[in-house]
Amino acid sequence: MAQFIQAVMDHFEWGQYVLFSVVLGILALTEHFWPRRTAGKGHKGRIRVNLLLYGLAGLLMWWVAEPVQTAAVRLGASLEWSGLAGSALPGVPKIVIGVLLVDAIQYLLHRASHAIPLLWRMHQVHHADTAFDVTTSVRHHPLEVVALAALTLMLCAALGMPLVSLLFYAVLQLVHTAFCHANVEIPLHWDRRLRRVMVTPDMHRVHHSERMDEGNSNFAMVFPWWDHLMGTYCAQPALGHEDMVLGLAHDNDARPDGFLRALSQPFGKLP
Ligand SMILES: [Zn+2]
Repeated sequence: MAQFIQAVMDHFEWGQYVLFSVVLGILALTEHFWPRRTAGKGHKGRIRVNLLLYGLAGLLMWWVAEPVQTAAVRLGASLEWSGLAGSALPGVPKIVIGVLLVDAIQYLLHRASHAIPLLWRMHQVHHADTAFDVTTSVRHHPLEVVALAALTLMLCAALGMPLVSLLFYAVLQLVHTAFCHANVEIPLHWDRRLRRVMVTPDMHRVHHSERMDEGNSNFAMVFPWWDHLMGTYCAQPALGHEDMVLGLAHDNDARPDGFLRALSQPFGKLP
């Protein structure tokens, strides 16, 4: 087991792109044959923009990963406590609690990304997509990817997160983020059961509504329980999934959806 974990850690830097490409390909095929929404495919060129942002964010992360990790490790060491990793809990519960804590951190950071103007400037690029499919999952401004990775690692280091929990969560989120953005038809009775344990595409699509009340709900990343606990859960969009409008209300007419426009969006005026 330890050898397997070490092997995953050694190859995660490039392996994540291979795994994500496979998941993306399978989900794109599924979307083609069983689409959830047939109306409104979004603006022309959006898929190209989403994939270019993914590529640029990957390059930037490759460049800054080492200094970010070093800073997080230094912060963890400076606190002079071993946190969860050093607790007397047995191995499996410790790892599970770690995974849940990382997901709770993701929920809080996502809420902060909507509430704090500096973070929202970057996060709005993700919400500017006028459709919702598997490529939306990689539509993030490169600066947001770096900022959230740094904040997540710092918080994990401060809490003494076991490395195995971080690694397990990274793989889980990689697959899940593609799934929960997919435009795939999941029978309603399956969706009801699934969303008891994970965020489903129908649940997360509500968060991409242009309506403020719906956009400010369903912040959970992998596990849906945080939204229930914090009172931010919204079961379905008011207009239904087929007719709901996706994107940013103030931005939906300002097109075309170009790559440079997406890159410069955080530096423009907020409405
Ligand atoms: Zn959001």
